[in-house]
Amino acid sequence: MKGAKQMAISQDLLEILACPVCKVKVEMNEDASALKCPQCKRVYPIRDDIPVMLIDEATIEDEEPASQS
Ligand SMILES: [Zn+2]
Repeated sequence: MKGAKQMAISQDLLEILACPVCKVKVEMNEDASALKCPQCKRVYPIRDDIPVMLIDEATIEDEEPASQS
């Protein structure tokens, strides 16, 4: 485990954010660049430290890593 990273989104804000589809709490990804819903696997981007909790902006993350080139 590395030391604590600087988080773009505060823990307080993260607590109140929920997936607009499932209404469950979202989780920040490892590099704090997006928020992921554990239920529907949608990934909501964070832009300029502001989470974009819009279904249209979300991408759905597959279990297997997509290799795009
Ligand atoms: Zn969801």
